[in-house]
Amino acid sequence: MKSGKPGRGDATSAVHGGEGVQRRMVTNPKVAPIFETSVFTYETLDEIDDFLGGNPDNYNYTRLGNPNQRALEEWILALETAGLAVGSGDSPSTAATWGALSAGSGTAAIAAAIGSACDAGSTVAVSRDIYGGTQTLVEREFSRWGVKPAFVDTGKIASGAAPFPAGAKLLVLEAASNPLIRIADIDKLSDRAHAAGARILVDNSFLSPVLFKPLEHGADAVVHSTTKYINGHSDATGGLLVAPADWAAAARRVVQNLGAHLAPFEAWLTLRGARTLALRMKAHSENALTVARWLVARKDVQRVWYPGLENHPEHDLAKRLFPRGMGGIMSFDLAGGLEAVDAFMRAVRIISFAPSLAGVSTTISHPAKTSHRAHSPESLAALQIKPGTVRLSVGIEDLDDILEDLARGLEAAAKV
Ligand SMILES: *Cc1c(COP(=O)(O)O)cnc(C)c1O
Repeated sequence: MKSGKPGRGDATSAVHGGEGVQRRMVTNPKVAPIFETSVFTYETLDEIDDFLGGNPDNYNYTRLGNPNQRALEEWILALETAGLAVGSGDSPSTAATWGALSAGSGTAAIAAAIGSACDAGSTVAVSRDIYGGTQTLVEREFSRWGVKPAFVDTGKIASGAAPFPAGAKLLVLEAASNPLIRIADIDKLSDRAHAAGARILVDNSFLSPVLFKPLEHGADAVVHSTTKYINGHSDATGGLLVAPADWAAAARRVVQNLGAHLAPFEAWLTLRGARTLALRMKAHSENALTVARWLVARKDVQRVWYPGLENHPEHDLAKRLFPRGMGGIMSFDLAGGLEAVDAFMRAVRIISFAPSLAGVSTTISHPAKTSHRAHSPESLAALQIKPGTVRLSVGIEDLDDILEDLARGLEAAAKV
């Protein structure tokens, strides 16, 4: 109820006060504001027709699109497609060919990519050392919707030792696998997939577009869990897809229809984190290479898996694919098994145990108890994951402090 005084009532002012600011602005903010709005308003019916006609600068409802999502989508498009055409992803020729899409998590982006490329009756080939969440997605959800998963050894397909799975429409794999950082030959796999009439989707979360651009190696589409390096600060979940424009448009419809969009604040946080991606990837890669060499020299460490080391099975391939650095993720085996891992975890001070990775701080995880918990002992053995395997995500702290903490952990582990 209004009080009888002139002007708007408090309830109306509470609802509409301050609303004119963004409309009256003359200057542009240096950084896009957070468009924390679920809906956009129209002055005329023509504006709705303009939105439905596909004008990407006209927004309607945040589940269908939002300027913060769009800013992040343009960012990934520029990075992943930079080397593909004259000019950058901002150039009209590249932008017309490729499309980008954001989603509420890496998993949502992968679901949208698979869901738009496959129909009931399709087979999707998936690397058998894929991220556990992606495996669960295809095994538990897509299989019920009639999309049949076929788990494959991408190393054997690349070398010709195994055929490309007959009838598969899509191959999904990671540029670097978890937790042993095995590297797939994307150039060869793209050739094999294309010869079989299939497309290939590469999850590039472990490298980021600063270290690797799969589209330059024949991949048809790239997906990221921005939760990892792109955001890099362990404070937002999100996903991105870059694909040919028609595939990206179809994937966008899946995200809109499933309600799996990226929230404006998460999009804004992710772009804020992403601004320093190039600097962070350089620091992660440099720290990790030194840490890996230091671990190899320790007698209490059985084996170190890092593509920058000469003993890594795909070291030469990794050098060719990732000349700018190999990122911060590695694994190592402790001889003392589970008990040694537990003693290590309890002893470290700056390194925390966190079942995720790729943030600014150094973290460890234990694949057998977390990401690969669902695997049988035989399957773990086939993947070469041991009870004493520790995954390490090397952060950007001072190297001496990281090494000192690792030494503290290893000394405790050696005592069990
Ligand atoms: C974390 C991760 C995902 C899943 O991303 P979410 O953002 O957690 O959904 C997919 N692929 C890889 C390689 C990952 O590390």
